[in-house]
Formats: sequence, C-alpha cells, structure tokens
Amino acid sequence: MTRTIRAVGGTASEPAADSFSLYDAEEAVLTRTEAMLSGLSDVAGGVQALADAYRRGFREQQRLVRMSDRMQLDLQKANQRLADQRRDLQALNAALSGEIEHRTRLEAELRRLADTDDLTGALARRRFMESAAREWLRHARSGAPVCILMLDLDRFKLLNDSFGHAAGDAALVSFVAICRAHLRTLDFIGRTGGEEFAIVLSDTGLEGGAAFAERLREAVAVTPVPMMDAAMRITVSIGVAQSEPGETLENAMQRADAALYAAKDCGRNRIALRSGAQDLSGAAIRP
Ligand code: GH3
Ligand code: MG
Ligand code: MG
Repeated sequence: MTRTIRAVGGTASEPAADSFSLYDAEEAVLTRTEAMLSGLSDVAGGVQALADAYRRGFREQQRLVRMSDRMQLDLQKANQRLADQRRDLQALNAALSGEIEHRTRLEAELRRLADTDDLTGALARRRFMESAAREWLRHARSGAPVCILMLDLDRFKLLNDSFGHAAGDAALVSFVAICRAHLRTLDFIGRTGGEEFAIVLSDTGLEGGAAFAERLREAVAVTPVPMMDAAMRITVSIGVAQSEPGETLENAMQRADAALYAAKDCGRNRIALRSGAQDLSGAAIRP
C-alpha cells in the first residue's frame, strides 16, 4: 500500500514532482535497520570471539603465572638444598683435612719409630743399611774414603745376668749416648743386633777410623753406667774397615765384622783393622 501526501497547491489528478511516500521511507528504514541489525550481529559475533580469545589468553596467563610460581618455589628449594650440600661438603672437607693431617703426623711418627731403635735412639738396622748404601754411593762417586765400624759390647750376657736386664738396657742407652757424643754431623750409628752396632764415618780413611774407634773404646771403658755398681764399666770391641775402590758395602761390612771377631779373639776391649778388600786373614789389633 502506498500512501501519498500531496503538496499544497497541486491538483488531485497529477502528483507533485517532489512527492514523498511514507511507506517507501518506512520500507527503506526497515531495510536499513535489518541491514544494521545483521551488521550488529556480525559485530557481536566478533566481540564474542574477542572475549573468548581474551578469556583463553587470561586463563593461559594464569596458568603460566602458577607455573612460574611453582618453578620459583622449586628453584628456591633446589638452592636451599645446594646451600645445605655445600655446607655439608665444607664440613666434610674440614674433617678430611684434619684426618689427612692426623694421618701424616701418624705416618711421620711411624716412620720415625720404624727408622729408630726405640731403646737407644740409634738408627734401626734397615734404616742404617739404607743410609749406609746412600753414603757408599756418594763416596764412590767422589772417590773420598769412608770407614765402617762394627761394634759389639763385651760379655754383655754376663752383665745382664749380674745386674739384671734393666741395667743392661741402661748400659745400651749409655753406650749409644757416648758414641753420639763422638760422632760428627755426617756420621751415623745403627743398632744391627741386640748389643751390636755399626758406625759409618764419612770422608775418613783407615787411620782416622782407627783413631776414632780407639777414642770411643776408651771413652766407653771409663764411663760409669747407670744402675750398675760404681766400680763396674762396660767395654766394647770394634772392627774397622775402610772402603776400597769398587768394593761393595756388604763386603766392607764383612771385613769390619771379621776385624771385630779378631778383636774378640784377642781378648776384647780392643779395636782391630782390616785394610785390603781381599785381606780377610789377619787383622791389625789394638791395643
Ligand atoms: P761377647 O763378648 O762374646 O760379645 O759376649 P756377649 O755376652 O756380649 O755375647 P752374647 O751374644 O753371648 O750375649 C749377648 C747378650 O746381649 C745376650 C742378650 O740377652 C743381650 N741383649 C741383647 N739385646 C738386649 C737388650 O735389648 N737389652 C738387654 N738388657 N740385653 C740384651
Ligand atoms: Mg757381645
Ligand atoms: Mg753380639
């Protein structure tokens, strides 16, 4: 249906040129409204999609924040554990250092005990032999002479039997003290058996070795021994041998030992010398 509004002044048979149709206008408005509504629904769909995306993004952000919180907590715990472990390790290290120090001291003490005769303080036999071998090599290289002395206390069994074992021990201690008082820095004494000892004299020939042995023999013979009758003395027999070119230490010690037994055979409290490497038959006896 078309409603026509006629302009004032016109005739009823001919429509005015600028006639206006309300129905057409309403139609157009309705059409435009429908188009706008359809556009609005598109916009609403877009807004809805945006809201959904925003919600999803927000949830994801929340999830990430929670995850980050958890990770930070885990990190803090791990850091704490590391700090605890570091403290434990430091304590362990300190304990270990203490233990190493203790063992080093113990080892040094054990070595000292193994190297030293604990009664007299003379070198133990094994340590004496090591030192003697070193000294032997040194002298072989330099060509300087070295003297070996073998010493054995006289009738020591009798002394033990007469005065007791403790007096015998005191005599051994006193004997080594006398020897040490006569030794120079490079010389050394070792206990090779019960009442048997050996001395190495550096840079010393047979004459010097014999003079030293004689001085020592005299000193022992005149020194009173603790725990024994004041009038009693101990005596020592000494065999002396000088190193020969190319000779082994063991051979020189055998020669000194042979000289010692020659001194014993000749009455004890004396020294005997062996000069040549091959000369094991006769010994020069003093006094
Ligand atoms: P010789 O003059 O022939 O050497 O006679 P000796 O009595 O000295 O020799 P023997 O080998 O018959 O005796 C050695 C004695 O030394 C026997 C042993 O009891 C004693 N003896 C060995 N070691 C020790 C010790 O550490 N302390 C004491 N008190 N006596 C010892
Ligand atoms: Mg003896
Ligand atoms: Mg003996």
